[in-house]
Amino acid sequence: MEKKIYHKLVQIVGEERVRTDEPMKSHTTFRVGGPADFFVTPETSEEVRAVIDMCRSEEIDCHIIGNGSNLLVSDRGVRGVVVQIAKAMNKIESNGEQIRAQAGALLSEVAAYALKDGLAGFEFAAGIPGTLGGACVMNAGAYGGEMKDVLYEVTVLTPQGEFLVLKEDELELGYRTSVVARKGYIVLEAVIRLKKGDEEEIRRQMEDLRDRRISKQPLEYPSAGSTFKRPEGYFAGKLIQDAGLRGYTFGGAQVSEKHCGFVVNRGDATAAEVAELMRRVADKVEEQFKVRLEPEVKRLGDF
Ligand SMILES: Cc1cc2nc3c(=O)[nH]c(=O)nc-3n(C[C@H](O)[C@H](O)[C@H](O)COP(=O)(O)OP(=O)(O)OC[C@H]3O[C@@H](n4cnc5c(N)ncnc54)[C@H](O)[C@@H]3O)c2cc1C
Repeated sequence: MEKKIYHKLVQIVGEERVRTDEPMKSHTTFRVGGPADFFVTPETSEEVRAVIDMCRSEEIDCHIIGNGSNLLVSDRGVRGVVVQIAKAMNKIESNGEQIRAQAGALLSEVAAYALKDGLAGFEFAAGIPGTLGGACVMNAGAYGGEMKDVLYEVTVLTPQGEFLVLKEDELELGYRTSVVARKGYIVLEAVIRLKKGDEEEIRRQMEDLRDRRISKQPLEYPSAGSTFKRPEGYFAGKLIQDAGLRGYTFGGAQVSEKHCGFVVNRGDATAAEVAELMRRVADKVEEQFKVRLEPEVKRLGDF
């Protein structure tokens, strides 16, 4: 069975784009996670569809990841096929005030493209370390901007294997959610609509936001960004800080000393340690403030 799946994947994407027992810690910003049975990096939408079709007909699980910057992968790894839509699918082109990019383009690459073309409105995303696809799924946002403000249309693959083009009003973008997440669509491509701006001003804004990230966030340690969603009326980091949990540690996982909203990997943290730390933090915050923190970070594999 293993050999059969391997050969089918090689037929679709080519031998150099299929790996077996691939350590997921190499593909997540948390630097945590055991091996994926199969790890493939398609280059085109058709290849993504063919991989999904094959997994469906062989009845094996298939999981999509982008840059792994919002993921906690189990120490036991991932059974089935992990499809990474990232570096191999990152073409970007512009047309007037629109930028069209494949889902695997990094937000920083799209932002650099916008800057080069003197297009304003994407500055907020320049420092978010995810792909355009990952950002569409969860309506990524920062410093008062969010994908909802700029997305014009998104091309997805449905679980039934159809390509669909969704316009902005069909995307149902809300706080860290979208129709794409709810329906299990795969993002293949997106078009964002920006406005002509002053190149120097765009650059200044991006640099300013970058400096704010460097001063506030524990970028010196692996993490997956904000660990918990913002509960209505509160800030997760402030609740954690007020619960006296700054620097709280379990194994190699720690509530960041610099920003309590981040759980960081201080060395060789396991996924189990990160998950246990998150559970304890949520329990302690709930005990004190009667607010339950919900994870923003997505889990992959068995916990
Ligand atoms: C230091 C740091 C700072 C961060 N700052 C911010 C911030 O300011 N704002 C913010 O919103 N986030 C932030 N994040 C979190 C993260 O970068 C975003 O959530 C980003 O959008 C995740 O994109 P990704 O490509 O890494 O997705 P992944 O982590 O690979 O995947 C996340 C989820 O999206 C799904 N997914 C990924 N690609 C696709 C696709 N093409 N089609 C369908 N589903 C897909 C996966 O299945 C998974 O469920 C930060 C993370 C770090 C490490």
